[in-house]
Formats: sequence, structure tokens, C-alpha cells
Amino acid sequence: MRDHTTFRVGGPADVYARPAHREDVITLLAAAREHDVPWFVLGGGANILVADDGIRGIVIDMGSIAHCDHRGTTLIAGAGLPVSDASAYAADHALAGLDFIYSMPGSVGGAVWMNARCYDGEIYPILESVEIVTPDGALDTYTPAPEDFDYKRSPFMSNSAIMTEVRLRLDHGDPEALWRVMREHEADRRSKGHFIAPCAGSVFKNNRAFGSPSGAIIDSIGMRGTAIGGAKVSDLHANIVINTGNATATDIRRLIEHIHDQVERRTGYDLEPEVLYVGDWSSR
Ligand SMILES: Cc1cc2nc3c(=O)[nH]c(=O)nc-3n(C[C@H](O)[C@H](O)[C@H](O)COP(=O)(O)OP(=O)(O)OC[C@H]3O[C@@H](n4cnc5c(N)ncnc54)[C@H](O)[C@@H]3O)c2cc1C
Repeated sequence: MRDHTTFRVGGPADVYARPAHREDVITLLAAAREHDVPWFVLGGGANILVADDGIRGIVIDMGSIAHCDHRGTTLIAGAGLPVSDASAYAADHALAGLDFIYSMPGSVGGAVWMNARCYDGEIYPILESVEIVTPDGALDTYTPAPEDFDYKRSPFMSNSAIMTEVRLRLDHGDPEALWRVMREHEADRRSKGHFIAPCAGSVFKNNRAFGSPSGAIIDSIGMRGTAIGGAKVSDLHANIVINTGNATATDIRRLIEHIHDQVERRTGYDLEPEVLYVGDWSSR
């Protein structure tokens, strides 16, 4: 799995499948049900930490379901399309509203799953509908309801549906102005070291009740640069843990847990991890 995650760590999947169409997803789920095999849906692998022992069951990589089109101001994207490519497509077609997410790693489906947010933007307000395959293999359409979404929360975190296509409600915009803003966001991410070493972005969610962003809290107890094995708290942003080259998933998880425990001991704040632990961690 190291080839499929932005942390560049993780052991093998038992079965790795890359469906080309929604029908393939339905077929895979039927096979998984018939043989009682677990499955995991993979987007861009930008928010997960896969165990060194890998993943038992089937990994369903959505990367080939990556079409992009628009009707009027509605953008229609395959769930596996990189969300940054969807943003670029929108700007090129004079559609505004997805510019905030340009250069963020991950897929369209993953962005909806996390209700991804950055630069004062968030997915939920522009979400029109989502085509899903339900766990029992039925094709359905989900229409968003306000109570289903919150800060980095979506209904897909608890319903096990597989998103195959996402519709986003955008506005008319000026491509040049959109690209100006998008390049600023990309430059800002570069200046924060997002792309210099393998990572999964922020490792902890922010919590307004704590008064400061998680990165500032971690910084305040002097943990920038702290390392365990090949995992290290980024020198440029204290809420980012990087793989310096030879980290194992266990190194990274131990460092995240160490940061959590130090912050709790010294400030009383119980930081909530944003990165998901995926796969077989039983040998730990
Ligand atoms: C350098 C860097 C910067 C980042 N900056 C930000 C940021 O500013 N804001 C932010 O919110 N996040 C940020 N992230 C985290 C990450 O980019 C987002 O969480 C992204 O939305 C993850 O999408 P993904 O496709 O990679 O999901 P994955 O990591 O592949 O999966 C995450 C979860 O989504 C589920 N999932 C994915 N696709 C589907 C689907 N089609 N159907 C059902 N479930 C699915 C998976 O099963 C898993 O549970 C950053 C990451 C990196 C590496």
C-alpha cells in the first residue's frame, strides 16, 4: 500500500481492485458479500495511515472512476478524480466555488467523506448530490441534509456507502481570477512544506474550544522537530508529521500518539486525530 498513500508507508492488501465503472463496484461488493471478505475504499490515500502488516480483504481503489463534466454550473465528477483536477477543470470552464481546494491532495470522494475544508471553503455547502453504491450493492442517490455535516464530519463516515459520482453546485466565474487565487493557495501550501516530504496533511483536527489551532498548541509545548524512528514533526508546521524517508507506519503512529499524550499531559487538551488508522494493526 505504500505506493498508494501519501505517507508512503503500509504493507500489502490481500486483494487490490481498481474498478473502472460503477458496475464493477457493484460486482466487487457482491463477491465480497458472497465470500464474507471485508473491503476498504481507497481514494487518494491522503488521509490514511496503513499498518505495516497491510490490509486484510479487498482494497477498492476508486482512481479509475475519474470522469469530469459539467451541465450549466453543476460539476459532475467521478469520485476517484483528484479533487485538485476537479478544481482545475472548474476554473478552466469558468466555474467558481471549488477554487479553495486546488492543490489539496486526495480524491473528490475522499473530500466529500471528510467534508474537506481549507482557505475558508468547505465541501458541504457546494454539494448537490452523490451517486452511491450501498453496502448491499444497490445504486442510489444521496441528497445532502444540513444536519448530516459538520466540521470535518460527513454521513459517509458511518454509512459504508461507496461514492461513485459527485455533483457540485458552482457559480459562474472568471478563469483568470480563479487561477490567480488557486496559485496563491498552492504557493501557501508549498511555503508550509506540504509537498517536501511524504505526509497526510494535518494529523489532528482543530477544536475551537481549545482556543488555538492544534498546530499552535503542539508548537507551544516545543514539539516541532520531535522524531520517532523515521517519523518526525515537520519543522515547518507542527500539526504535520512527515516520513523522513525510512519511517514505518508504526513509527508514524507512535509519534502521533506521543504528541497526543504530551499535549494532554501538559495542556489538558485531548486532540482528536484526523488521520485514519487503516488495516491490520493487531501485531502492535
Ligand atoms: C499535503 C496534504 C495537505 C492536506 N491538506 C488538507 C486540507 O487543507 N484540508 C483537509 O480537509 N484535508 C487536507 N489533507 C488531507 C486529505 O487531503 C483530505 O482528507 C482528503 O479529502 C482525503 O481524500 P482521499 O481521497 O485521499 O481519501 P483517502 O485517504 O483515500 O480515504 C479517506 C477516507 O475516505 C474514504 N473514501 C475515499 N473515497 C471514497 C469513496 N469514493 N466512497 C466512500 N468512501 C471513500 C476512505 O474509505 C477513507 O475512510 C491534506 C493531505 C495532505 C497529504
